[in-house]
Amino acid sequence: MASDKRILISGAGPVGYTTALNLARYNIPFTLFEAASDIFEDPRAGTIHPPTLEMFEPSGVTQKMLEQGYLVPNYHYRDRTQGIVANFELGILKNDTPHPYRIMLEQHKLSAILREKLKAYSNYEILNNHRLLSATQDADGAIASVETPQGTKTFRGDYLIGCDGGRSQVRKSMNVGFEGFTWAERFLVLSTRYDFGQHGYALTNYIADPEEWCALFKVPGYDGKGLWRILFPADTEATQEELFDESSIQRRIQGFQAKTGTYEIYHRNLYEVHQRVATCYREGRLLLAGDAAHINNPLGGMGMNFGLHDSFNLTEKLAKIWHEGASTDLLDLYDRQRRTVAQEYLQRQTIENKKNIEQKDPAAREAFYEELRAITADPDKLRSYLLRVAMIEGIRRSNSIT
Ligand SMILES: Cc1cc2nc3c(=O)[nH]c(=O)nc-3n(C[C@H](O)[C@H](O)[C@H](O)COP(=O)(O)OP(=O)(O)OC[C@H]3O[C@@H](n4cnc5c(N)ncnc54)[C@H](O)[C@@H]3O)c2cc1C
Repeated sequence: MASDKRILISGAGPVGYTTALNLARYNIPFTLFEAASDIFEDPRAGTIHPPTLEMFEPSGVTQKMLEQGYLVPNYHYRDRTQGIVANFELGILKNDTPHPYRIMLEQHKLSAILREKLKAYSNYEILNNHRLLSATQDADGAIASVETPQGTKTFRGDYLIGCDGGRSQVRKSMNVGFEGFTWAERFLVLSTRYDFGQHGYALTNYIADPEEWCALFKVPGYDGKGLWRILFPADTEATQEELFDESSIQRRIQGFQAKTGTYEIYHRNLYEVHQRVATCYREGRLLLAGDAAHINNPLGGMGMNFGLHDSFNLTEKLAKIWHEGASTDLLDLYDRQRRTVAQEYLQRQTIENKKNIEQKDPAAREAFYEELRAITADPDKLRSYLLRVAMIEGIRRSNSIT
């Protein structure tokens, strides 16, 4: 692309691709750099929440997600020994959203849908095997130094958006911190085709236990016939080899759902878990969105969704600046709106989710279960609770910040 009149994006994960499609739809030229040669397929996000489905509706992405994913009208909160504690029916949100459900679809499939949708547009380039090394800026634009298969090259654009994940090189090039903490334990993700549905599990289940809690989800998998993912906390001292050991994996799964024979395992993945938010999402022409701006534990399935919401907020403001000559102060508003809710909702809720599911004090655990039972027994409480955990309240709060 010859012209510097464009926006640069670093990182083609779900947030980078969403930013790309949004800019294309706003008729803003862009160049997207991606370090890898293709979309990663490791088992990460699978849950898509109602506001995300609303935002993707006009581009037709939601329709594709509905076609390819599983519609999840309810989810269970369970105790490993007591069984179901609360069944959350999302239908109560029918007057709050046209999509009162979750969709389960692997994040790499969302990225593939976005890449496919981009084919309807021109005036952009996506450069795989291009790793951003550093980002700088001057009075006229943002400058990216990029390692390419032909050596290091420099690219210029009006703005550079860092969508390059938790270890964001754009963020490291900015004068901002990434404050928060890293949990001692890592999370182990396993997947199997065994059908847990036959034992009464919902498509999404959070199973509390003081020793070994887990989260169990069904995603479409390789052939759309289903793959169950199980997420466990991993012992802090154990090596990856010990955690991936077949007998230890079988013991863990048999521990919450005993069956004859062994479970056939398709994925074994280990993730470090952090709770961090960048101290600012904007420095002049350099901007952050998605995991580059905030990272959190995956309980509640919020991290990617939150990053997608960043992208919609940011690109709408960039379009006003680009086409209508609006003030670049809008980018500070982006920072205020999205960073505030990252702290107030994303961090608070996901930390709370982890503390509740692993609660060791029996009295506190029972009190929490009583609270959940009271919520599901009262339609007003249920609606208000689900507005928060289905991420609708966070969007409303973000939009209310001026
Ligand atoms: C086990 C697990 C389960 C999860 N479940 C959920 C869930 O159900 N729902 C949910 O909302 N979230 C979930 N998440 C979180 C979700 O996976 C992340 O929030 C999401 O991947 C963030 O997307 P992103 O595009 O910001 O970053 P990433 O997906 O990390 O993408 C960043 C991209 O940038 C590229 N990149 C990195 N550095 C450079 C560079 N220097 N130059 C160029 N390219 C670069 C990378 O190669 C990558 O393609 C889960 C996470 C885990 C670990």
